[in-house]
Amino acid sequence: MNKFKTENYYRELNKDSLCSCDYCRNYYKEVKAAYSELSDHLAGMGVDIEKPFETIPLEPYEGNIEYIAVQYIVIGNAADFKSEDVYGVHISIADSHPMTDIDEEHYVIVITPIRLKWAV
Ligand SMILES: [Zn+2]
Repeated sequence: MNKFKTENYYRELNKDSLCSCDYCRNYYKEVKAAYSELSDHLAGMGVDIEKPFETIPLEPYEGNIEYIAVQYIVIGNAADFKSEDVYGVHISIADSHPMTDIDEEHYVIVITPIRLKWAV
């Protein structure tokens, strides 16, 4: 990845442009505190954990919610990326994802699973 360009992308990505459904709002609110080491790890790639591209949630259950996959955009060449397991979470290249609308070279990673409190 290109950490500098990825950081820039996330810095310029306005929170107001992100999905505002309850599942995503819960994710933005809870994920950093619940997964602080993962947050630091993603920040090392330039990725802001609070600005996912796409979340794929299950239904909330007894005050908790599992996201079976969460996708993030990374600017740079996918050939530089290797799948890895960090802090109980698997990070890999997404096989499929919505259109990204980004001109420069980029790819989409998927992290799975993420379990959070249902706090919305
Ligand atoms: Zn959403």
